[in-house]
Amino acid sequence: MIRYRLALALTLVCSAAQAQRLPDGVHPEHYTLALTPDLKAATFSGEETIDVTMDRPAKSITLNAAEIQFLDVSETPTGGTAPAQTAVITKDDSKEQAMFTFPQTLSGKVTLHIRYNGILNDKLRGFYLSKTPLRNYAVTQFEPTDARRAFPSFDEPALKATFDIALTVDANDTVISNTNIIEDKPSSVPKKHTLRFATTPKMSTYLVAFLVGDFQCSTGRVDDTPIRACSTPDKVKLTKFAVDAAEFSLHYYDNYFGIKYPMPKLDMVALPDFEAGAMENFGCLTYRETDLLVDEKSANIPAQKRVAEVVAHELSHQWFGDMVTMQWWDNLWLNEGFATWMEHKAAGAWHPEWNFPQDDATNLSDTLDYDAEGTTRPIRATVNTPDQINQMFDRISYEKAGAVIGMVENYLGEQAFRAGVHNYLQAHLYGNATAEDFWTAQTTNSHQPVDKIMQSFVENSGVPLVSLTQTQPGGVGASEVTFSLSQNAAISDRTANWSIPVCFKTADKPVCDVLTPQRKSLPVPANAPILFANAASKGYYRVTYTPQQYSAILAKVTTALTPAERINLIGDRWALMQSGSGDVGEFLDLALVLKQEPNAAVLAHVLDKVSDVHDLIATGADRARLESVIRTQFSPIYKAMGGPQRHEPYDHQEMRSTLFGILGWAKDPTVMSQARQMTNDLFTGKRSDDPGLIDAAVGLAAGTGDRDLYDSMMVAVQRAVVDPNLEEEILHTLAFFQDPALVKRTLEYVVSGQVRNQDSASILAVLLSQTETQDQAWKWVQEHWPAVKAQLTVNSGAHVVGALHNFCTVQRRDEVKSFFATHTVEASDTALTKSLQSIDDCIRLRAVQAPNLNRWLDTHASVGHPASVGQ
Ligand SMILES: [Zn+2]
Repeated sequence: MIRYRLALALTLVCSAAQAQRLPDGVHPEHYTLALTPDLKAATFSGEETIDVTMDRPAKSITLNAAEIQFLDVSETPTGGTAPAQTAVITKDDSKEQAMFTFPQTLSGKVTLHIRYNGILNDKLRGFYLSKTPLRNYAVTQFEPTDARRAFPSFDEPALKATFDIALTVDANDTVISNTNIIEDKPSSVPKKHTLRFATTPKMSTYLVAFLVGDFQCSTGRVDDTPIRACSTPDKVKLTKFAVDAAEFSLHYYDNYFGIKYPMPKLDMVALPDFEAGAMENFGCLTYRETDLLVDEKSANIPAQKRVAEVVAHELSHQWFGDMVTMQWWDNLWLNEGFATWMEHKAAGAWHPEWNFPQDDATNLSDTLDYDAEGTTRPIRATVNTPDQINQMFDRISYEKAGAVIGMVENYLGEQAFRAGVHNYLQAHLYGNATAEDFWTAQTTNSHQPVDKIMQSFVENSGVPLVSLTQTQPGGVGASEVTFSLSQNAAISDRTANWSIPVCFKTADKPVCDVLTPQRKSLPVPANAPILFANAASKGYYRVTYTPQQYSAILAKVTTALTPAERINLIGDRWALMQSGSGDVGEFLDLALVLKQEPNAAVLAHVLDKVSDVHDLIATGADRARLESVIRTQFSPIYKAMGGPQRHEPYDHQEMRSTLFGILGWAKDPTVMSQARQMTNDLFTGKRSDDPGLIDAAVGLAAGTGDRDLYDSMMVAVQRAVVDPNLEEEILHTLAFFQDPALVKRTLEYVVSGQVRNQDSASILAVLLSQTETQDQAWKWVQEHWPAVKAQLTVNSGAHVVGALHNFCTVQRRDEVKSFFATHTVEASDTALTKSLQSIDDCIRLRAVQAPNLNRWLDTHASVGHPASVGQ
């Protein structure tokens, strides 16, 4: 699965919870499912048989079921002649389980027969309704624990089975499922037909899918696999790009893994209501519309990149996740870390000019920040309940695990790592595996200590800090402790048994050496131009240098370091400052050293941190003074760039867009009037000569926008339904309006029932996290809690709670704490803990750094009213 990109990631704290695992001893072998959904009544009926093998004789069988109304359950010995016997059904709703108890003891191979009814819910999980203004669709999302809402099942990833699926649907509708349709015949029910699908390979229940509606598709083919990208009929013209992306990625993976994609076809389907970004159901991938549909002719590169990444992510899961599945959800990282790392490998091979290495470096830096908070968790954590499992889908399982995998590949070399991956997959095909299986395969193949390295990163929580000191000539002392933002003001001395492959920059290729608790001094490579200890920005650790080492790096920062390494350095210095060991003035000095930075991603990363200085540290007049510094320093650079040129490189467009965005944010009058003009042109139908700036322009114009502009946006939202990207863009722009009357309108609109569940929480989250709107939004949310809560799904509630992390006062922290003590939100306890911790961290950061910022501004900001500067 890929998370929705606006979602705020959460972490997990293990609480004492009732174990909800199924009892052992019963193994499903094969399911036969026949479902008849009623899209108008929002219900469905099901007939199911499950062939199971019993390890030992027993009178009862327990499986998972939720929101299922059983009609009758019976069993027959498989292949035998004994009469059927009927079960007494005992449901345990709190465990989402049902127990079938039979008069006679069962043993060996048994076939269960189950007839039941279910509901097509509106909570975007299980078998649910997805709606457009024209009609309803019935679709599925089962990961992690919602197959049990569609069919009673042994709903755990290790309990794999084969599936025969059939659906009876309206004559004009079709069904897309994991395999091909093998039979299509009229039903005994008038005006309906029954579609039967080929038997699936052995697979986990959470990967089953069936999608009912009038979908239309574009088609392609690669390596003898037919590929389709499908949508509602009005959007099928936006599906071609995804087919191209899938053709490239599927062929890439067939080669990379050395194991051919096994399904008879590959379908990718965009769904109007979809909570996650996308889902890797075996052979039947589902997507949020904005993550699959794109107009190749008009979409900007970020929108195309997003689709390419998500397609590459879901396709890599067909191997990592679908063919070989984690044994249990505690090792979710095996699925998600791998797919997160792999998505840029494939998409980067397709479009090398899209600068994925810089994106990876920025992601790494942001993830290290996230992981340094006191509320973090290890990559592998104990989980038992659906609530706990849902909270595993966070930045740690995705980005941290992906970064650790990238670090290991960098250490071993591409070919050795790839051979280890192949061996691991081959050994567990159509089965399940654990973390130990993965690192043992890599260690056996490479004869390097991958097991020790990976174990230390999978089991220790947080971020290791490598502190360099100068020892005797030719050597460097490097100590390793766990870095933390949240323990006192200083870097923690928490020790963990880290084994870290530290890679030094040299004139040619990086030289890596493993730092362990027993080995704390490493030789410095002979031909290093500077001592930089995270070559290629692949290592999952922070580095501190001596003042002399840092000065030497700074002197050659744009010539000796790659863009990815510069992003890494920015992150290290920012983290050091945040932990209280550095001065915010020194960080801002680095930002000014990088002001002529030639790479857009590097500049974007450092300016992103400068805006954090503004939001988290600056108060009162210092905010305006910091804005004036930005205008004075960066406005000349923006002006010197000029307008767009024909055949402009992507990086150049990004640079202009970054500068435009930060100057608008700093209230630069020239940029603001350009933003208003571009927005006006957009709404009066004039073509822009700089489309790369439009998104930023509309957002900036909204910030100071009035009622007329707001009304235009509302009209545009209604009209934009034909282009999901545009619709989402405009919808989220509503959250940027700062006029209190308009903020109120947005809040009311979000809970009015006119905004899809999938979008309402993310708009609320923006309103709750922006410094300009958060106070008003928070007050309103408390006063209108029942209406807000009615919009929340199992995952989106945590996004709303997580958005409160941006407050920075004791009063707000106490309000948040006491409000949620009496107003509960599903699966959000860890989001709340994390928000409260972030607020505390911010209070401390501000207390330490605000005086330093004030001093720095005394020597760098022009004196006077901000409006008189930069005009
Ligand atoms: Zn995924």
